[in-house]
Formats: sequence, C-alpha cells, structure tokens
Amino acid sequence: MRTARKGNVEMPAFVRQLVKETEKRVSSFFKGGRGGAEPTEGEAEEVIPSPYLDRPVLDKLTEEGCSRWGLNYALGSMQGWRANMEDFHNCVPQLGGQMADWSFFAVFDGHAGNCVAHYCSQHLLTQILTTGAIGPEDDAEKVRGGLIEGFLQTDKQLHTVARREGWERGGTTVVATLISPRYIYFANCGDSRAMLCRAGQVGFSTEDHKPFSPLERERIESAGGSVSLQRINGSLAVSRALGDFNYKGAENREPTQQMVSPEPEVCVLERSLADEFLVLACDGVWDTITNEELCAFIRSRLCVCTDLREVCSQVIDLCLYKGSLDNISIMLLCFPGAPQLSAEALHQEAELEDLLESKVAEIFEELSGRGEEPELLSVLTMLASTAIPGLPPGGGLQSKRNCIISAYYQLKEAHQPSLPNEVGGPEKPI
Ligand code: MN
Repeated sequence: MRTARKGNVEMPAFVRQLVKETEKRVSSFFKGGRGGAEPTEGEAEEVIPSPYLDRPVLDKLTEEGCSRWGLNYALGSMQGWRANMEDFHNCVPQLGGQMADWSFFAVFDGHAGNCVAHYCSQHLLTQILTTGAIGPEDDAEKVRGGLIEGFLQTDKQLHTVARREGWERGGTTVVATLISPRYIYFANCGDSRAMLCRAGQVGFSTEDHKPFSPLERERIESAGGSVSLQRINGSLAVSRALGDFNYKGAENREPTQQMVSPEPEVCVLERSLADEFLVLACDGVWDTITNEELCAFIRSRLCVCTDLREVCSQVIDLCLYKGSLDNISIMLLCFPGAPQLSAEALHQEAELEDLLESKVAEIFEELSGRGEEPELLSVLTMLASTAIPGLPPGGGLQSKRNCIISAYYQLKEAHQPSLPNEVGGPEKPI
C-alpha cells in the first residue's frame, strides 16, 4: 500500500474554513475578546474556543472481525479537524446463547462532550435485549418494538446518570443495525446514516433527522421550540438524539414529543442473496459524499482490496480530502454476496496508478522547466484539470490523492539531493 503523509498538505476546502475561523477570531479580538482565553462568568462578550484544530489528527482507529454466519466487517474512525473525538461504536458480530446467528452494530456521534456517546455505546444493546422482544422466533413487529423501547429505556437511564454526572448538555446520534438470519433491522436516531448496497446499487438508506424536516419541525414547534439557521433554537443541528436533556424539558409531553426525541426510526428489510454490503457512518462521512458515490466507491475498492480496514481507511481519507471537518467514523459490513477481488480490476488499478505517476512527473517537469517551484498544490491543481481515464467511480481524483502525493514526494526527493550533515536539520545522533 502506498501512503505518504509528509509535510502539511494544503487542502483548499480546509483553507477556506480556516480562513473563516481566523476571521472570527480576529473580529472577536477587535471587539474586545481575548482570543482563546477561558470565558469568565458574567462577562458580556464570551469567547468560544474554536471547535477546530490547526492541523487534523490523522491517526485512525481500526477494527475488524467476522461473524459465525459469514459476515465480514471492519471499522475505521478518525478525529480529523475537530478539537475532540466524540464518535464511538459498538460491534457485536454474534449475540449470546440461542442468538449466535444474530449480529449488532452501531455508530454513535456525540456532541457537546463525549460522555453521552460513550455511555450509550456501552449500554444500548443491553437495554434492547432487556426488553425481551429479541428472540429466536424473529417476529419482525416485536423486534421493531424492542428496538424502539431499548432506545427509550437507554435515554431514561442516561437521564439519571447525566443528572448525577453533570452531562445534561451532551447528546449523541445513533445509527444501528440488527441482523437476524431473516431480516436486517435498521434503527436510526439523528443524522448518522445506514446505507445498504444490494445488487450493485443503493438498495436502502435511513432518513436523517434534521430540525427542518417538516415532521421534525412540527414536533419541535409544538414542544415550544423554533427552527432557525436549520437548527433547533438556532443551536442544535439534529432533531433526534439520546441525551440533550436541555431540549427535553417541555412539561406534560411524552419523551417522544419533546424538541429532541430519543425515538429511533426503525425499518425492516427481508434479507436477500443480492445483499452486498452495509455501511454505518456518521455525518462526517455523509456531509462530503452521497449514498450513490459511496456505494460505487466501496464496490470498486472491494474488487482491488480484501482488507476491509484498508477500504474504511480509504473512505476516511477521501472524506478528509473532500473537506470533512468533523470526526469521521465508518463501519463496513460485507455479506457473502459482496464484490470479490478481481484480476481485471487489479490490473486496471495498477494501470491507473502508473498513469497518475507519469502525469505527476510531466507536470513536475513542466513547472521546473518554467523555473517555478513545483508546489504540491500547483501539481494537484494542474492534475485536476487533466483528463484521467479510469478513476474510481464515486471517488474520482481525490480518492487517489495518497498515490499522487507519494509520487510527488519521490520526485521532490530525487530533485533535491540531501544537504551535508553540518548544514542539515535534525540528523541521526552519532
Ligand atoms: Mn458528526
């Protein structure tokens, strides 16, 4: 595998965002803020610390495994540009006892702290199983009810803990799937999303719960809230979540009728031999890529790569390069019908990488020939306006960025013979 992460790569989408951030800080400085200092109680002008880092945290957490019945899965998770990591997950490839052919997976995207997301990742499945509705008889209506009840019970228990621990501001979205021998159950609460690829296409995806969706808005307004800037009371960007108890205090209303509802939308699909793979991911993924693009991209990767962690890693890099400023988590679950490694696809991929390397070399030489310094950003920009056949569907040029960067640094090293020791920077200690 080729990866290169030398130096700080310029990324236009991020630069724009960072300029915005800087402007905010500068204007707050001139208004009398104190750039970055902790706000003091009672001060008129509160300075909110930036939710973004100066550089992204690129370390990835990965995990993989398989179930007894033939499901292979992997997870990839990265903090990215956010100041904190608030995503959590739960992979249970087989439930206990008589339920060993059932699997459960969930992604939790926390906000305003990570305590609530962490708590839910530890307790949601237990609460679902405690309802007693999940059993070998696989009664779809009963299981559906059990999933909803499990979410509501988790939120109730969480409220007690949150009051005790002072987590009332925090919340988490959840997207989960329970796979039985007969059905796939999807439970979604918030704006994370599940997407199923069936017979080569997007066969199903969950609906995001945003405050501006008509039904969500209706509930928010009847609970005494408003929707502005696409947010509840101009602040919270999601309309269903576990936690967020500051939005759940309207009197004489059921928990499912509050501004923020903990009720998941549950969908049940009968399994099919045409099922290829299922993705669970947080909005850090979906903000930068559509269902169709991700479906096509993952299909193309499965034909050239058997390591599902590597596929998740490539999706994360793609989202980062496409401008995601959020924590990024993706879970990839492959059914027995998933695309397999193909000699033809491998051959095409190798040809594509050779082509990219030679294009990078051409541009590098052209810039050097004009007496210009061949900066990576100029090389990438020129490459983007070049017709390149055979780029991965759904991923395009950005999905081959690691290959391009690697080719670029090889050229750069070849053009800059290393300096003698006494002039050079840090060298090996003698
Ligand atoms: Mn997020």
